[in-house]
Amino acid sequence: MRDDIERVLIDEAVIEKRLDAMAAEIERDFPQGPLVVIILLKGALVFAADLLRRVPRVLEIECLNVASYHGGLESSGVVDFLDRHFPEVKGHQVLLLDDILDTGRTLHAVSRRLMDEGALAVKTAVLLAKDKVRAAEVEADYVGFEIGDDFVVGYGLDYQGKYRNLPYVGILKAGSL
Ligand code: 5GP
Ligand code: MG
Repeated sequence: MRDDIERVLIDEAVIEKRLDAMAAEIERDFPQGPLVVIILLKGALVFAADLLRRVPRVLEIECLNVASYHGGLESSGVVDFLDRHFPEVKGHQVLLLDDILDTGRTLHAVSRRLMDEGALAVKTAVLLAKDKVRAAEVEADYVGFEIGDDFVVGYGLDYQGKYRNLPYVGILKAGSL
């Protein structure tokens, strides 16, 4: 697996240090009271597991499966909700976690849905944010790292379902794409 990686962009120790700081910010910012954390599957799994264990407060964890179409299938920016049940968020503060902010369509659509479902307030946290113009008007409240507009894998992010378990964020060799 490691042979497929051209370059490590962010190594494990650097990610862990950054997560300590993000968790402290989150802990400081959210008033006491019910907090629901929503993890966007599957990309945000690893990030969420490592971040949330650093946040010493009572919270509930929910997961959401969404499909967004982008890249080769560049389209209307439609985001489909794939779960039969939507988490109960009415009157709750929500922290939405995703792996990476790219066009912004996913976070935009999910945040709007959460507000439609009656969430009190929605904040968003991403491990990575690409430095680019977004298709949807959205920025994350908490960003682990700003990166360039390269395709990255590892630490939850996949290429065709693989590489999510790499402990760092890296760039694939051209031959592995
Ligand atoms: P957005 O809706 O912001 O365009 O897309 C966010 C989703 O696109 C992410 O949750 C992720 O699944 C996927 N994505 C965007 N950029 C990358 C990337 O560089 N690598 C991987 N593996 N997925 C990406
Ligand atoms: Mg993905």
